[in-house]
Amino acid sequence: MKENVLHYLSTRGTAPRQSFSEAVLTGLAPDGGLLVPETIPDIAADSRHWQSMSYRELAMAVMRPFTDLPARDLDDIVTASLGKFTHSDITPLRSFNDLHILELFHGPTLAFKDLALQFLGNLFAYLLDGRREINLLAATSGDTGSAAIAGVRGQPGIRIFVLYPAGRISALQERQMTTVPDENVAAIAIDGSFDDCQAIVKELFSDAAFKQRYALGAVNSINWARVLAQIVYYFYGAFRVMERTGAKQVRFAVPTGNFGDIFAGYMAWRMGLPVSQLILATNANDILARFFSSGDYSRSEVRPTLSPSMDIQIASNFERYLYYRAGENPETVRQWMQTFRNTGGLRLEAMEGSRIDPLFSAVPADDPAILKTITQTYQTSGYILDPHSAAGVHAAMQQGLDGDPVVCIATAHPAKFPDAVDKAIGRPAVHDTLECLKQLPTREHKLPNNADAVRDFMVRHIESHHSPESRQEMPCR
Ligand SMILES: *Cc1c(COP(=O)(O)O)cnc(C)c1O
Repeated sequence: MKENVLHYLSTRGTAPRQSFSEAVLTGLAPDGGLLVPETIPDIAADSRHWQSMSYRELAMAVMRPFTDLPARDLDDIVTASLGKFTHSDITPLRSFNDLHILELFHGPTLAFKDLALQFLGNLFAYLLDGRREINLLAATSGDTGSAAIAGVRGQPGIRIFVLYPAGRISALQERQMTTVPDENVAAIAIDGSFDDCQAIVKELFSDAAFKQRYALGAVNSINWARVLAQIVYYFYGAFRVMERTGAKQVRFAVPTGNFGDIFAGYMAWRMGLPVSQLILATNANDILARFFSSGDYSRSEVRPTLSPSMDIQIASNFERYLYYRAGENPETVRQWMQTFRNTGGLRLEAMEGSRIDPLFSAVPADDPAILKTITQTYQTSGYILDPHSAAGVHAAMQQGLDGDPVVCIATAHPAKFPDAVDKAIGRPAVHDTLECLKQLPTREHKLPNNADAVRDFMVRHIESHHSPESRQEMPCR
């Protein structure tokens, strides 16, 4: 093994440390914790030089110290992954006076998850190297599934099974998954909520014999490689806004569901990027907003909203943040997770240190507030927000746009959510790729809310479908 290569530890502290490559292939640590880097590279010495880099160069600079790959190979993977983006800046910044919007939706499925999942798909194919197979299993509340499928469809050695809550994702999001022709892809509608889908995934991953026999892998936001790819645009967005405004530090407003996106921002801050505030935006499912404003982390029912990709109560990446809040003490994390499991809640009084983290501020937005933000932004700037991005802009406005500039992260193209946009501005937004999907045939699978049913389906599918040798043509892209 090479010297000085960063390793990964479990947030719960009872699993052996792993290399980057192992961490990517396993996803979840064997003790049920999440993998975090042993140390966080400090960029202080390099950051001046980083400001003039292209997105691709910056991606290399940011990611390289976290990985164990030869630079040439990482460069190939990054280049291939960014190659599917249709904008030359990859994540362009749009500014309207004090409103700065970082558009993360120029990938194949028009949502920010493409940034992580194009990378992960190519990384998996590279690590498997034609010698091994992997069966990916994921739960999605909408965008993850289609972006994961777009990242791995037709990749040699990989099959993917995506569970989504039947009837609770947008029709277009469903079509983005069910129209993919590649045989290594199965999108499965589960009769339940997103949390039910996630619970099935967790249960199957904790079935050690099944996991081992069928080489299960994760693509959900717990995979470290996804977090890693997302750190890059925090740097890119901060540098572009600093250039434009002359500011020395910036804030970010982040529409949050599973805490993956904003956790990448937190990592960027820990690396030394001058971020003065992370504004966490939720929709009506406000567990995280409650936590960051009062220290109360207690789950309730998932409420369906106009921003379905944020309809989440238990944020799967949150344990990574708790690990740092616990002073990187895995014993404390284990206790907290135990308390949360037993009582459905956690109060910060029970935690060490101050109740509130000054880096974060949190703002929830219900559907009317989200619609109003879409309407007002359209009226004042002529810019159409999707309902997730609107939660972020709403949060930024609540915090006030004077002070350090706020980079509002735009997580999806507005055409993905035509009903919400129509309600807000009297017409839907459109996008050619999505219009084209409406003509394509679909392949649908439907299963009850039950881990055994999903396990049986997977076994049958794996034993009857070879992993692909090449990609099918995607007629709409
Ligand atoms: C996934 C998603 C989010 C939430 O991101 P997390 O990383 O889960 O916090 C927000 N908006 C859109 C459009 C998404 O697809």
